[in-house]
Amino acid sequence: ERTVGVLALQGSFAEHLACLERLEGVRPLPVKTPADLARAEALILPGGESTAQSRLLRRAGLWEPLKGRLAEGMPAWGTCAGAILLAGEVVGEDPHLGAMDIAVRRNAFGSQLDSFTARQAIAEVGPEERALVFIRAPWIERVGPRAQVLCRVRGQIAAARQGRLLATAFHPELTGDLDFYRYFLSL
Ligand code: GLN
Repeated sequence: ERTVGVLALQGSFAEHLACLERLEGVRPLPVKTPADLARAEALILPGGESTAQSRLLRRAGLWEPLKGRLAEGMPAWGTCAGAILLAGEVVGEDPHLGAMDIAVRRNAFGSQLDSFTARQAIAEVGPEERALVFIRAPWIERVGPRAQVLCRVRGQIAAARQGRLLATAFHPELTGDLDFYRYFLSL
C-alpha cells in the first residue's frame, strides 16, 4: 500500500480523497501538519485559491518541510490552484513553492468564461476522450526544458509533467477521473 497525501488546508481536498479511496493499493491521507506530510509518499495539491493556500501552508508550518520534500523528489500533482503553487513562475506575481519549470497565468482561462468543460483525449493518460473541467483556471504559459506539455485546450497548455511532478489546470477530482490518478501513481 502506498500512502498518498492530499494537502487538506483549503479547496477540493475532500474530492481528491474520495477518488483515492476508490483505488486499490492506496491509503489516502489528509495532510494538515508536518507530521502528516512526513508520512505521505506522494502529495496531491488540490484546487481552490492559491493565495489562501499559500498563506495556510506557512501558518501550518508546512512551507519549509514541503519545499524540502519536493526538492528531494517526492511525486506531487497540483490541480488548478495546486498547479499555481508548484509553478516556478506565476506571471505578474511572486511564485510559491517553485518546484516545476513552468510559468502559469492565473485565471487565464477564466477571464474568457468562468468555467467550462472540454472533452478530449490526453495521449499519456489514455486513448479515450475525457471531460476536463476548468474553473477560473490558470493556463500554463510556457514550459521550460525540464518539463513536457501533456495537453492543450483552446490552444493553451492545460497540463504538464516534469519527471514525477504533474500540473493540471483542470480538475479530475471533480469528474472522478481515476485514470488520471493511476497515471500520476505510475510516474
Ligand atoms: N483561480 C484560482 C487561483 O488563482 C484557481 C482556481 C481553481 O483552483 N479552481 O488560485
